[in-house]
Amino acid sequence: MRDEQCIFCKIANGEIPSSTIFEDEKFRVFLDLGPASKGHALVVPKDHYENLFAMPEDLLGEAFTTAKKTAEKMRAAFHPAGFNIVQNNGPVAGQTVFHFHIHVIPRYEDDGQKIGWAPGSLTPEAAAEICAELEKA
Ligand code: AMP
Ligand code: ZN
Repeated sequence: MRDEQCIFCKIANGEIPSSTIFEDEKFRVFLDLGPASKGHALVVPKDHYENLFAMPEDLLGEAFTTAKKTAEKMRAAFHPAGFNIVQNNGPVAGQTVFHFHIHVIPRYEDDGQKIGWAPGSLTPEAAAEICAELEKA
């Protein structure tokens, strides 16, 4: 299951070279070309799935396990102070490559990165309404 136009299909399957740090029959993990920090890596399945919703659940589990193993390797090598595990879906959410991937971003004290959102507020009424809507969905 590959998409001829997809750059991550080409990288994951070795047609385009990458700085690979791990590979097995289902995934390639390689360094992001626009890293947020030292070691920023992408966990990419070799088969093409556009996003979270297209991913089979068993593969999704394996993808997150691979992300954890990647983070453990980073931890042993670079001793970061923390990690962000990021997975974007849809252009509005920042997805720019439409082949599922998990960002593993080691975080260092004073690395100058801001990965987050502007917190809003949640009233008890709004929370109740949201829970009710979700229950109906
Ligand atoms: P996203 O915005 O979540 O879709 O993430 C796409 C990521 O892929 C970005 O962080 C890019 O820097 C990275 N990227 C795009 N093309 C390449 C490439 N050829 N090799 C490595 N990373 C890439
Ligand atoms: Zn693809």
